[in-house]
Amino acid sequence: MKIEELIRENIRNLTTYSSARDEFDGSDYIQLDANENPFNNGVNRYPDPYQTELKRAIAGYRGLNTENLLLGNGSDELIDLIIRVFCEPGVDNVIGLKPSYGMYRVCCDINNVDYREVGLDSNFRFNAVDVLNAIDTNTKLAFFCSPNNPTGNSLDKSEVEKFLAAFNGIVVIDEAYIDFSDKSSWTNSLSVYPQLVVIQTFSKAFGLASLRLGMAWASKQIIAVLNRIKPPYNVNGLTQKAGLDALQDLTITKSQVDILKRERDQLSKNLQTMKTVQKVFPSDANFLLVRFHEASEIYRYLLENKIVVRKRFEQFNCDNCLRISVGTPKENEQLINTLKIFENEKSIVYR
Ligand SMILES: *Cc1c(COP(=O)(O)O)cnc(C)c1O
Repeated sequence: MKIEELIRENIRNLTTYSSARDEFDGSDYIQLDANENPFNNGVNRYPDPYQTELKRAIAGYRGLNTENLLLGNGSDELIDLIIRVFCEPGVDNVIGLKPSYGMYRVCCDINNVDYREVGLDSNFRFNAVDVLNAIDTNTKLAFFCSPNNPTGNSLDKSEVEKFLAAFNGIVVIDEAYIDFSDKSSWTNSLSVYPQLVVIQTFSKAFGLASLRLGMAWASKQIIAVLNRIKPPYNVNGLTQKAGLDALQDLTITKSQVDILKRERDQLSKNLQTMKTVQKVFPSDANFLLVRFHEASEIYRYLLENKIVVRKRFEQFNCDNCLRISVGTPKENEQLINTLKIFENEKSIVYR
């Protein structure tokens, strides 16, 4: 497969903006090239446009190479950049799954790119043949999310491999929740599939959602073209510094992830004993998709008791489902207690 041929023509022919810090990283020099305020306050200079130091630390932590890494202002920025590199507005289309993360459609809509969804089955399993049947010669991109949001399950590896082998386009696997999963990352397959892009984020397991820091891992060639269209200073200096600081010592992060995984499994067990609950779907993430008997009533009751969860019952195959993030041990206990009080108050017998 020729990645070059998948790139939009105008992007292929683009002369990119060259910023002052692009042309010269002049930390040892008198810097009169970027019209900055020269008085040092820690943030008066433009940040490194390629985040060299931060990338080195991240690649070291993940055991991967910096040349395969692009950083973004959250992974949501990366989703948008990928669509803009490969999809000609009004002509090309993107394939995705349902139910899944909503930003793929939002970014496609904004870019006037047709987004098509193929349904997962009632256990949210992925079937490569169904997806291959829905693509055409203008399908440039596929977005898969694994572990999937809002369902929590990981997509079956052999089905995804079947799709990768047959699809003549870019396959993006969104691994926002990979650090909560015991399954291996798709980054291990980057050398096998030149068309593969793996997206990860510092927003979930790392506890840095407010920093807005996302990662895209891909072949050198794909990273190079994404670098050509990204805004020059898309990751701000404070974020680069805070990201580096966080990677210095990950002991706390790792223990938090362990706690959240244990809490997830305990919460799942506790919910399954409740009369109001029909089904708790298996999860490799830090949330649970839960099918209740009357989800909208539960949603309202939880809100009245100052607990907010996510309504997902309007999504495909998600009748009566709420998505519940795993909280602190105390918060999870409060959730269960509130649901118990609900059951007592209503003294509902569902089965
Ligand atoms: C939360 C989430 C993201 C968003 O990540 P940011 O880096 O905060 O933009 C991306 N993908 C999925 C599936 C998510 O659930």
